[in-house]
Amino acid sequence: MQDGIKPSKRSIAYFSMEIALESALPSYSGGLGVLAGDTIRAAADMGLPMVGLSLLYRKGYFRQELGEDGTQVEHAVAWRVEDFLKEEESRASLSIEGRRVWLRCWRYDVKGVRGDGVPVYFLDADLPENSDFDRGLTGSLYGGDTFYRLCQEVILGVGGVRMLRALGYTRIRRYHMNEGHAGLLALQLLDEEAEKAGRASVRKRDVENVRRKCVFTTHTPVPAGHDQFPMSLVTRVFPNREDFFDLKDVFCADLMKQILREHREFLDLKEAVQAGTSLNMTYLALNLSGFVNGVAKQHGEVSRMMFNGYDIAAITNGVHAATWTSPTFQKLYDTHIPGWREDNFCLRAALGLPAQEVWSAHQAAKKTLLDVVSQRTGTQMDPEMFTIGFARRATGYKRADLLLSDIERLKRIAAAVGKVQIIYAGKAHPNDPGGKEIIRRLFAAKRALGNDVAMVYLDDYSFDLGAKITAGVDVWLNTPQPPLEASGTSGMKAALNGVPSFSILDGWWIEGHIEGVTGWSIGNSWREGQGAPEHAAEVESLYQKLESVILPLFYGQRDGYLEVMKHAIALNGSFFNTQRMLQQYVTDAYFR
Ligand SMILES: *Cc1c(COP(=O)(O)O)cnc(C)c1O
Repeated sequence: MQDGIKPSKRSIAYFSMEIALESALPSYSGGLGVLAGDTIRAAADMGLPMVGLSLLYRKGYFRQELGEDGTQVEHAVAWRVEDFLKEEESRASLSIEGRRVWLRCWRYDVKGVRGDGVPVYFLDADLPENSDFDRGLTGSLYGGDTFYRLCQEVILGVGGVRMLRALGYTRIRRYHMNEGHAGLLALQLLDEEAEKAGRASVRKRDVENVRRKCVFTTHTPVPAGHDQFPMSLVTRVFPNREDFFDLKDVFCADLMKQILREHREFLDLKEAVQAGTSLNMTYLALNLSGFVNGVAKQHGEVSRMMFNGYDIAAITNGVHAATWTSPTFQKLYDTHIPGWREDNFCLRAALGLPAQEVWSAHQAAKKTLLDVVSQRTGTQMDPEMFTIGFARRATGYKRADLLLSDIERLKRIAAAVGKVQIIYAGKAHPNDPGGKEIIRRLFAAKRALGNDVAMVYLDDYSFDLGAKITAGVDVWLNTPQPPLEASGTSGMKAALNGVPSFSILDGWWIEGHIEGVTGWSIGNSWREGQGAPEHAAEVESLYQKLESVILPLFYGQRDGYLEVMKHAIALNGSFFNTQRMLQQYVTDAYFR
C-alpha cells in the first residue's frame, strides 16, 4: 500500500470463501462473510499487519425475489468489478485436471480508524487464457456442483498462497483459515516446505512445519457446513499428486463418522456420513493447524465432542462496532463516549447515557427502518408499537417460525397486553428446500395474523438491510435449535444499538445473557447428554415471557425498558465486538 506496510512486512494472511466489505459488493452470502469483513475492519483499526484473500464472484450469491406466497426466486447479481476493486498486475497459476489455470486478482483497501489499512485480494479466473469452464470457476458463491466447489476451494487455498507470493508477501507467519473451505492452502504450504528441503514429495516433517503456521476456525456443528469431497473428485483435480495420498490419515473422514455416530441427537447422520473415503476439509484443517478454535464457549465444547482428541479452543465472535452502530447512536456515542471507535471497551460508559437521548436515538433508527418497510411493502408500521425483529438465513435449525407456533395465542397477547408488529427477512440457500418452505410458511402465518398483528417479510436480506433491522426494532428475537447456533452475530449488532435480545440460550447468548438486565432467555439451555429442550416448553416460555415480562415493561415501565437497553450496550456492545475478538486471536493464535 502506498501509505501502509510493505507486503514483505505483513505477517497474517486471512483466507475466507466470503468477505463482506460493502453491501453492494456481492462477495458474501451471510454470517461467515460478515464476520470476515468485520475481522478485517478491526484489523485495520488496530493496525495489524494482515492481508485478506477471497474469490471474486461475477454472479455474486443471488438476489432474492419473493412471490405472493413466499416462493423464493433467485437472480444473478449484476455488478461491475471496476466500480469496487482495482486490478493488480501480478498473475499466478495452478493446475486443475492437468490444465494450467491462470489467476489474476483484484484489490480492495480497508481503511482503519487510525489510518492504517488492510488489503483484501479477490482471486479471478476469468482470463482469456483459460478454458470456458475454468473462467467460470470464480462465478457464483456456493453455486455449482461438488466438483465446481472443490475447484473453487483449490483456487482459494492453492491459488491464494501462490498469489500472495506473486504479490510479494514473502513473510507470512500465520495463515488463518476462516472455515474449512480454505484448508487446501495447507497443501500448497506442504509443497513449499518440500521444495525448500530440495525434495519432490511431502514428508511428515513438513506437516510439523506447516502446522506451526496454520490457524483454523470452525464455524458450525451442522454437518452441511463441513465440506467432504469424494476421493475420485480429488484425484480428478490433482491427477499427478499421489504423494498427497500418502498422508491419507491427515485427510480421511473415518474418525468423524465414528464420532458423529455417538451424537445422534443433534446431527443428521445421513448428510454427515458418506460411504467410502473422502477428503474432509474439516479434518484436513484440524490436522494441519497448530491452533484451532470454535466461535463461542459452548461451540468450543460441542466441537471438542464432535472432533474427539483435538485440542480446540474457543474465541467468541464479535461484530465491528462502528459498522453496525446506526448513525444516530454513533452521534450519541461521539458526544458522550469519545474514543469508543478506537477503544470499544469505552462503551461500558453507556450506563451513564441520558435515557431520553437513548430513546430519541432509538426512535430515529426505528423510523429509518419503518420507512424502508413502507417503501418496500407499502405497509405503514407504527413507530410507537412494540416491534420484534428476526432476520437471518432461512434454514431449518434457525426455526424462524417458532414465534408463530400458536397464532391465536399471539393475537390474544397483543390484544390484552400491548400491540405487537413483526419484521422478518432472510434468504434460503438455493439448494435448501426446507429453508424455502419456512419462508412460505411465514407468508401463510402473515395471512393468518391478519390485522391483529402486523407482519412483513422483507426480501433480499443484505448487509445494509441487516444494519437497519438490527438497529430499528425494539427486541431482537433468536430461536435456534440448541446447540446448533455456533455463535450468531446479529444479536451483537442489536446490542450496539441498545436493542435487547430475546433468545434461546445458544451460541453467544449463553455468554451475553443476564436475565432482565441485557435481555431475556427463552427456555432452558442445552446440556450434553440430556438432549435438546422440549419444543413445547420453549414455545410456552416464549409466549409467557412476552406476555408477562417484556410487553408490560415496554408499555408500562419505559424507564425499566431503557435500563435494559443501556445494559445491552454497556455489557454486550462493549465486549462482543471484533476488536476484543481479534485481541484474543493475537494473543492466543497469531503471535504465540
Ligand atoms: C449479521 C448478518 C448475518 C449473521 O447473522 P446471524 O445472527 O449469525 O444469523 C447474516 N447475514 C447478514 C446480511 C448479516 O448482516
